[in-house]
Amino acid sequence: MSYKLKKKWGQHLLIASGIIKKMTEFIQINSGETIVEIGPGTGNLTKELLKTNLGKLYLIEIDPEMIEILEREIKDERVIILYADATNFDFSSLKEKSLKLVGNLPYNFASLIIENTVFNKDYIPFAFYMIQKEVAERLINGKSWLSIFVQTFYELKYLMSIPSKYFIPQPKVVSAFVKFKRRNYSEVTDLKTYKEFLIRLFSQKRKMLKHKINKTYLQRLNISEKKRVEELELKDFLSLYLSFLNESQK
Ligand code: SAH
Repeated sequence: MSYKLKKKWGQHLLIASGIIKKMTEFIQINSGETIVEIGPGTGNLTKELLKTNLGKLYLIEIDPEMIEILEREIKDERVIILYADATNFDFSSLKEKSLKLVGNLPYNFASLIIENTVFNKDYIPFAFYMIQKEVAERLINGKSWLSIFVQTFYELKYLMSIPSKYFIPQPKVVSAFVKFKRRNYSEVTDLKTYKEFLIRLFSQKRKMLKHKINKTYLQRLNISEKKRVEELELKDFLSLYLSFLNESQK
């Protein structure tokens, strides 16, 4: 089997069977469950997933050469191969109520894939993503608009670090496996408006809040006007957003 690994699609194949087994264990696949794998590549993780008693496995892959390999190599009637882009895939099209997503993500598109996961959250109670360790830490520590956007709807858990030696070709960075567990409830319903609100707050991060938000809001919510956006907690973002919405609807 010969194929060319492509940088533009962030192709770093996982080659350590021990790590692949551990990832599969973390996912805790229930009998009959529907799983979606993002970026299956040559199918290393796919084959391990198929050892479980999952019900259906969708594969979303953007590289036609990988699609060919998967079609040739994976002979299992539970598998449905989709030639599609995970950064804008519409999960409602699968007509499934509940999906568990998993993937060793292409690192250059990881943020976009995570953002798209949130936009499709109604169908996705769980996701398990391998991403760059630094990106994982920033997501968990709440230091970007995306991290607040994600954390509003998902609880994040750092599962394990994976050194670069377990990939071919080796990436320059350490990787991390992260669990996304959907939260039960959120008052935020219009995700596009919420995203724009967060991006606006996070622009010019060093500026104090009083230069971005009306002081009366901050006072009413008991948030110091001298704070910077990175010092806010998730609940502050939520209450700021909800009072902003309230105000704009008057
Ligand atoms: N899961 C495999 C490969 C991981 S590399 C393994 O662990 O060995 C990342 C994979 O994501 C590659 O197969 C790449 O072609 C695919 N990919 C890159 N961008 C994508 C996108 N936007 N949508 C779907 N798949 C993508």
